[in-house]
Amino acid sequence: MKYDLIVVGAGPAGSITAKTVAQAGYDVLVLERDAFCRSPCAGYVSSTINIELPETSSIQSQISRMRTYFPDMSFHDFPINGFVADRPAFDMMLVSIAESAGAQVEWKSPLLDLTPDGVSFRGGEASATIIVGADGVFSKTASLMGLDKQKVAVCAQYHLKGVDPLPGTSEIFFNADYAPGGYVWIYPTGKDSARVGLGITEVGSRSPHQYLDAFIDESPLVLRMNGQKTEYVTGALPIGGLRDRLCFDNILLVGDSAGMADPVTGAGINSAILASEAAGNTIIAALEKNDLTLLAQYETKVKRLLARTLGRSLGKRRNLDKYGTSNEFLQQNLPEMWVTFKEYWQ
Ligand SMILES: Cc1cc2nc3c(=O)[nH]c(=O)nc-3n(C[C@H](O)[C@H](O)[C@H](O)COP(=O)(O)OP(=O)(O)OC[C@H]3O[C@@H](n4cnc5c(N)ncnc54)[C@H](O)[C@@H]3O)c2cc1C
Repeated sequence: MKYDLIVVGAGPAGSITAKTVAQAGYDVLVLERDAFCRSPCAGYVSSTINIELPETSSIQSQISRMRTYFPDMSFHDFPINGFVADRPAFDMMLVSIAESAGAQVEWKSPLLDLTPDGVSFRGGEASATIIVGADGVFSKTASLMGLDKQKVAVCAQYHLKGVDPLPGTSEIFFNADYAPGGYVWIYPTGKDSARVGLGITEVGSRSPHQYLDAFIDESPLVLRMNGQKTEYVTGALPIGGLRDRLCFDNILLVGDSAGMADPVTGAGINSAILASEAAGNTIIAALEKNDLTLLAQYETKVKRLLARTLGRSLGKRRNLDKYGTSNEFLQQNLPEMWVTFKEYWQ
């Protein structure tokens, strides 16, 4: 069978692209490497998310404030509006939305090879009019197309139980002794549990795991955070900004595979979903008019939606790469580097 669309990857970008195209009546196949969704994540989703979510048990807490700590532990509060999701449950919910719209999902089916006519994956082959790479930061789709590897931040995270997080508050902690070139995050997942993790660019003398253990064991937040360490995960984030090209004839890249996560905050769920709706709608137009040249409009749309914000963030990222290993620099310049300060946007 020839599909109208094959999507590689069942993360948020893949599921929303698949759902958008399938609900317009087209034949969509999603290939997912794993047996279920399991992307490592802190799980923060901004309420600007542009899809309607069903009542869902994947939401673990509501967030209304971000507290950002300077190296000397003075802090700055800023109102935000979002929620913390259990990422695997959240992603599985998006997959079921795509399936309900008519998409076929094949689990344990990693992409092995692709041509403009179709793909081979573990377990079979399939052909398609259009292919979307939504296979994350280390995208196999992108590498099979000969694109460069993306620059990444490496991450480590625990789910701490038996702790006392600040209710409704995400805490962001800048200190080069614990997170050189990056930051530590604390997101409450309940009254006595929180995800605590870090993303760093400068590995320095310790591994991400060691930095995170050191933060939990030594930092002044330890009294509230020294609980039971569960669910240790590692991961990576693209921090090189949007790829120059997102459309290669009938092959598109969406989400982390295209560098859509923010180079400073690392947040990528909202932009992946925003861009995948744009991808889906562009694909529908191209299929309706039987004109694949229309796919190029996807790139224009995404650049209009994301390029300015990601471009600004990339400039800040370059400074963090250069100076983010100095607590003196962070103490003096953090307001220009972090999104909750007005100086960041000037
Ligand atoms: C530790 C950590 C914490 C984070 N916290 C946040 C946060 O709080 N908020 C936020 O907005 N963002 C966060 N992010 C970033 C966020 O996870 C990503 O930006 C987001 O998942 C991008 O969605 P995506 O669909 O593009 O990719 P992914 O969610 O990575 O999905 C890609 C999918 O493709 C599959 N895949 C990979 N290779 C293949 C293959 N060869 N064949 C088939 N399938 C394949 C994977 O299994 C996966 O299911 C975090 C990232 C990390 C690492």
